[in-house]
Amino acid sequence: MAKCPKCGAEVREPIKSWTMKPKKRRGPTILIELYECPNCGTKFRTGKKVA
Ligand SMILES: [Zn+2]
Repeated sequence: MAKCPKCGAEVREPIKSWTMKPKKRRGPTILIELYECPNCGTKFRTGKKVA
């Protein structure tokens, strides 16, 4: 779940999610989730560490 940065509505399910590994340095893998707000249509991403 994520909050829309524009209108503050809560979006339950991401429309897309994928992981991104660090390119140069060693570091945590990041899980990126793409959300689309059903209220205002804004698309936004969130990222969190998974490893
Ligand atoms: Zn919104």
